Amino acid sequence: MKLRIGNGIDFHRLIKGRPFFLGGVLIPCAFGPEAHSDGDVLLHAICDALLGALSLGDIGLHFPNSDPKYKNIDSKILLSETNNLILNNGYKINNIDTTVCLENPKIKPYTIAMQQAIASVLNISVNNISIKATTTEKLGFIGRQEGVMATATCLLITNDTIYGN
Ligand code: MG
Repeated sequence: MKLRIGNGIDFHRLIKGRPFFLGGVLIPCAFGPEAHSDGDVLLHAICDALLGALSLGDIGLHFPNSDPKYKNIDSKILLSETNNLILNNGYKINNIDTTVCLENPKIKPYTIAMQQAIASVLNISVNNISIKATTTEKLGFIGRQEGVMATATCLLITNDTIYGN
C-alpha cells in the first residue's frame, strides 16, 4: 500500500447578489463568491489537495476559467471529475480535513450538510470528511467580509482491491 498526501487552498472575493455555495451547499446570504464557476472555495481547495497528492497540477490546469463550459458550473462536477482522475490513477481517498476561514455568515449550521454533499460526490463516508471553521478575529480582508478562504488536506491510499499495488 502506498500513501500520498496533498494540500489545497483557495480564495474568492465576496460580492453582493451572488449565491453563496460552500461545500456543495447553498447558504442563505446577501453576498457570495465572485467567480467564473460557482466559486465554491471549499470544493476547490479539496480538488487542489486531491490533484496535489498525485502531482497532477491544479484546478486551473484541469478546469481553466477561460473555458466557457465552466461558466457558473456546479463545483460538485469538478470534484467528481477530479475524484475520477484519482481513481483512474490507482488511488482512493482515505480522509480529507478542511478549514473554512470566513467572518460571516457562521457556517456551523451547515457543516453536516456539507459533509454529506461531499461524501455523496466522492462516495466515501462522512466520517472521513472533516470541516472546521474559523474567523480572522475581524483582521484583514476576511475580517472585513471582502473574501473567503478554504484549505484542505487529503490522504490518498492505493486502491489495492482494483490495482493490487
Ligand atoms: Mg476557486
